[in-house]
Amino acid sequence: MASGEELTAQLAGICGPEYVLTHPDALATYRSDGLEHYRQTPLAAVLPGSGEEVRQAVRACFEAGVPWVARGSGTGLSGGALPVAEGVLIVLARLRRILSVELEDARVVVEPGVTNLSISRVVAPTHFYPPDPSSQIVCSIGGNIAENSGGAHCFKYGFTTNYVAALELVLSDGTVVGLDRDEPGYDLLGAFVGSEGTLGIATKITLRVAPAPEDVRTLLAFFEDTGSAGEAVTGIVSAGIVPGAIEMMDRLSIRAAEEATGAGYRLDVGAALIVELDGPQEECETRFEHVKRLCSDAGAVEVRVAKSADERELIWKARKAAFAAMGRLSPAYFVQDGVIPRTRLSEVLRRIDALSAEYGLSVANVFHAGDGNLHPLVCYDAAREGEPERAEQLAGQIISACVEEGGSITGEHGVGVDKKAQMPAMFSEADLEAFHRLRCAFDPHGLANPGKVMPTPRLCGEVPGPYREHPLERAGVATRL
Ligand SMILES: Cc1cc2nc3c(=O)[nH]c(=O)nc-3n(C[C@H](O)[C@H](O)[C@H](O)COP(=O)(O)OP(=O)(O)OC[C@H]3O[C@@H](n4cnc5c(N)ncnc54)[C@H](O)[C@@H]3O)c2cc1C
Repeated sequence: MASGEELTAQLAGICGPEYVLTHPDALATYRSDGLEHYRQTPLAAVLPGSGEEVRQAVRACFEAGVPWVARGSGTGLSGGALPVAEGVLIVLARLRRILSVELEDARVVVEPGVTNLSISRVVAPTHFYPPDPSSQIVCSIGGNIAENSGGAHCFKYGFTTNYVAALELVLSDGTVVGLDRDEPGYDLLGAFVGSEGTLGIATKITLRVAPAPEDVRTLLAFFEDTGSAGEAVTGIVSAGIVPGAIEMMDRLSIRAAEEATGAGYRLDVGAALIVELDGPQEECETRFEHVKRLCSDAGAVEVRVAKSADERELIWKARKAAFAAMGRLSPAYFVQDGVIPRTRLSEVLRRIDALSAEYGLSVANVFHAGDGNLHPLVCYDAAREGEPERAEQLAGQIISACVEEGGSITGEHGVGVDKKAQMPAMFSEADLEAFHRLRCAFDPHGLANPGKVMPTPRLCGEVPGPYREHPLERAGVATRL
């Protein structure tokens, strides 16, 4: 029997045969994450039902010398959960128990497959979980940790990393370790958050939650163009106001979101700005009036205030639907994720417009405006020859423009496979070498999500098990140190 078959038989013994998928039809769902452009069929997908089954599955892969990739809900947008050919995909979707809710300590302990929104639901109404990706109904907490995910409320409240208190991890040889934020010494937990599945699998997660604010006020302001909406953002931030959220959409994304949701957004404008303030009631009231004035001063053509929770929800519905809604206007699109200094917004938008004209492809823009985190949506039609490639090039040019303006290649979607070629634009060879050494300290054999994040995959030690040669090495895409 070939090693691959031996391994899948062993995995079936650990998790139950119904939770080990090997048929190409059954594997079709798992060939890509949210970035469908990249596809790969793994040797097998395994769905463990407990942390112990994850440990045993990882150990079995280690003993066979077979690489593996962790997968949460598969909503990632950088190809982080893209399987490795000849590798095993470890799907954590069955691990969705909420293990404890300790509101006196403002903590919850969960398994990695629990969805982001479930955390806020389980601690409501006294508390909430602030990092709120637009995919929060579906995406898993394990995936959020691996990507250090953000969302509309991260400008004020911080990203996932600010809410992870402790982790139980399975390392690539099947060892189980615990990391605790409060422990003295090196911040290894900080290193794990955002490591995109390359350092191990989080199997038990302790999260901090925040007390629910006394008051929440939301407004929707419309502007003739993104430049004047950008001025309002600068005015608000310069006035020392820190909104709970401050989000911008341009003309094309408003159109797509409005068509999808019927939320009542104006279609005769060039930009919409959502500003949400939260906190003590009196402070909210005073600052809200100030924000309204600042929007008007920046040239808002209309400022609408949500008068009820339903109206507030409708405003957010359009924003949260913006990515998916683009499918109404374009058969296909790339969601880009770049960061720029807030003050460079109009310059970068001008460059995006120029690139859009040069490549002959539409680009819609959705921003976490407070953080300077842009999400250009590059539209294309895969049926037109050469268009997907042009769209990919255009998306790459947008990211280069972000870096040139002093920003970053990713704000929250991670590097994955999509951005790894752009890592040298931000990091020196010495930086990359330091990342690599950290990775090898957790995963000496390069079995955890190989081929992701680093521009040229490098392998550290001998591959254990019968293969001896790493599949990436065999394919000529990895070098051995
Ligand atoms: C419509 C839409 C809107 C989105 N909006 C946002 C947004 O506002 N903000 C934002 O930050 N992102 C957003 N995303 C991107 C995506 O939802 C996030 O990156 C999310 O955290 C991915 O979670 P997941 O469970 O789907 O992870 P997956 O896609 O399954 O995996 C992502 C990465 O995490 C690793 N991983 C998964 N589970 C574990 C684990 N338990 N231990 C170790 N590694 C693990 C995988 O190997 C992979 O590298 C959006 C995506 C979509 C499709």
